[in-house]
Amino acid sequence: MAAHLTGSFQLMKSLNRSLILNIIRTSGAISRSEIAKQTGLTPPTVTNIVNELLDEELVLESRAGTSNGGRKPILLTIKSDSRYIIGVDVGVKKVRLALTNLNANVLQRKLLPMPHTQVLTTEQFLDFLQQAIDTFLTENVTQKKKIIGIGVAMHGIVDHEQGIAIHAPTLKLERVPVKQMLEQAFNLPVRVENDAKALALGEKWFGAGRDVDHFVCLNVGEGIGGGIILNDHLFHGNNSLAGEIGHTKIDFNGPTCSCGNNGCFQTLASGQAVKERAHNYIKQGKKTSLAEVDLKDLDGQLIYKCAEEGDEIAKKVLEETGAYLGFGLLNIIHFLNPSMVIIGGGVSKSGKWILEPAKAVIQSYSLSREAARTTIGVSELGDEGSLIGACTLVLSELFSHTHSK
Ligand SMILES: [Zn+2]
Repeated sequence: MAAHLTGSFQLMKSLNRSLILNIIRTSGAISRSEIAKQTGLTPPTVTNIVNELLDEELVLESRAGTSNGGRKPILLTIKSDSRYIIGVDVGVKKVRLALTNLNANVLQRKLLPMPHTQVLTTEQFLDFLQQAIDTFLTENVTQKKKIIGIGVAMHGIVDHEQGIAIHAPTLKLERVPVKQMLEQAFNLPVRVENDAKALALGEKWFGAGRDVDHFVCLNVGEGIGGGIILNDHLFHGNNSLAGEIGHTKIDFNGPTCSCGNNGCFQTLASGQAVKERAHNYIKQGKKTSLAEVDLKDLDGQLIYKCAEEGDEIAKKVLEETGAYLGFGLLNIIHFLNPSMVIIGGGVSKSGKWILEPAKAVIQSYSLSREAARTTIGVSELGDEGSLIGACTLVLSELFSHTHSK
C-alpha cells in the first residue's frame, strides 16, 4: 500500500484525511473518539480513515495515554519516518539540499556552490538543479521510495501556483519553470516558493511563529526578503509580490538598490548595508581596526567581532544599521499590526548591536503603546530556515485541509 501511494500525492489529500492527519500531528497523540469530537466527523468515518492511515503506515497506535481507571485508550501518533521530503534552498551563491522526515527533522544535508552565477542560462540553471537533486537522491537511495515530494525555496519573485521563478535578479533569470521541469524529471510533486515566504511558513509550522496567528518574517541577509502570515496562512497578494519589504523606500536619496531604485530598505539595513557603511568609514579615514582588514574579508561577522572587542566604528556601523532596521520594522508594525516580527538571516546573529537599536527606534516612534510592545523575535530555525520552509511546502499540503491564499 505504501509503495502504491508513493508519488500519488493527490490521493493523500482528501479533505477529511488531511483534517484527521493534522489533528494527530498537532495534538501529538490522540484517541479516535477525541478526533471524532474535534472534527465533527462520525466515529465510523474516523475509524475508516484511521484504518487507511494505519495501512499506509502514516500513523501509529500506542497505549501511552492516561486512563480513568479502566484500560488506557489507544492513541494515534504520526509515524514521522514513514515518509520523507526533499527540500532545496536555492540561494545566490549556494544551493542547500535536505532530506527530512514528516517532522521536518533533517536526516541528510548537502551544500553545493552555484556554478558560474554571472553567465548561467535558464537551461544551465535547471540542469544544475536537476543534477544536484539527482545526485542527492542517489546518495539516499534507500529512502527514495518513501519520498513524497520536493519543496524548492528560491530567491526573487516566485509564482507559487505554477511553480515558476518569475524574477531571480541576482541569477539574472526570468520565468524559470522549476516545478514543471522537476516534476517531469523525478515524477514527484514539486512545490516552489520564494525563500523568505518559505522561511515564514517554516517558522509557522516548526519555529518561533508556531502559536502566532499574524506575523511577518524578515530574512535579513545580503538583501531583505519578507514573508507574511495572516490568519495562520501565508499571504501572497495579487501577484505573489506581497512581502517584498526589502524594496520599500526608506530614503529617496539613499544608495542604489539591485532593483535599480534608490534608498530601498535593503540598501540601508541588510548585511550588504553593514559592509558598505563600514567601507565608507574606512574611506573617510576613521580610526578603526576594520581598516587593517583586506576589503574582501570585511563581512558582517568580522564587524560584529570588532564591535564585541570595543571598536567604536564597528559599533557605530551596526547601531546605524540597527536604527534603519528599526524604521523598516516600524513601517511593518504600523501597516500590518502583526503580533510578532521574526528576524532570520545573518543579521539576526549580530544580537544586541543591531537588534537593540532597532527596538529602541520602535519604542521611540510607535503610534501606540501596544505597537511599541510588538514582539521582535529571532528565527528558531536558524541557517536552515528556508530549507526547512521548503520541506514545509510539501508537508503543509499533506497535513493542511485549507490552502494558502
Ligand atoms: Zn530595491
